[in-house]
Amino acid sequence: MEDKIREVAQLIMGSKRIVVFVGAGLSTESGIPDFRSPGGVWDKYDPEDFYFQNFLSNGSSRKKYWQMATEMYDAMKDAKPNTGHLAIAELEKLGKLDCLITQNIDGLHFKAGNSEENVLELHGTAMHVACLSCQKRFDRDAIQERIAKGDRDPACDSCGGLLKPATISFGQSMPERETAEAYKRSAACDLFIVIGSSLVVHPAAQMPVVAKRSGAKLVIVNRDETACDDIADIIVSGQAGQIMGAILEKVKTVAAV
Ligand SMILES: [Zn+2]
Repeated sequence: MEDKIREVAQLIMGSKRIVVFVGAGLSTESGIPDFRSPGGVWDKYDPEDFYFQNFLSNGSSRKKYWQMATEMYDAMKDAKPNTGHLAIAELEKLGKLDCLITQNIDGLHFKAGNSEENVLELHGTAMHVACLSCQKRFDRDAIQERIAKGDRDPACDSCGGLLKPATISFGQSMPERETAEAYKRSAACDLFIVIGSSLVVHPAAQMPVVAKRSGAKLVIVNRDETACDDIADIIVSGQAGQIMGAILEKVKTVAAV
């Protein structure tokens, strides 16, 4: 383990354009449950109510969706970034981070100190609410207050359109700009680091392949096996947060010598 941490630290030192790809595994270490896991929030609801088409077409689905979304938001709004989030923010401070591609919707990368322009949120964010008609964005807490007061299917105060957390739901297409940008950055980086993702869902699974094909080194830090283990240069198995923290400590020690 110690050897691998040193090797990854050396790769980071020798790289100029690092792309970090983050999945749910990093945020579970901040106490945010993996909502799709058995026994998670989603088990209590009918999956039909999560489909975007149903959200658009009927009020009772929207009320159930907001009920479920409120429960999820309550579990993440006060969460704090862990060592792993802070290590990625540190990479940005060191001028090593080209961009951070995340599947997480909890906003923890910003709490850790990463800047807006360096983060691509592939699944959107739960920290904002968007109007599906005029695209106006609202602070999530403000809308949650309305819900808490009994407005269970809130509408836009500008145009009367439907309001929905700014996350990507089943049946909703991936955000175009973020997805295109993520592919572009993956193809142009010299080091691609996967943290806390098993890389099974599309398009997550393709990005390390694109990076590798373009000549980048691939590092995977994850508790379990991933779909890209066979093409990785270094695999570090274990708690993503702790490992990333140890790697960055090593980078800073070497940099200081
Ligand atoms: Zn609107």
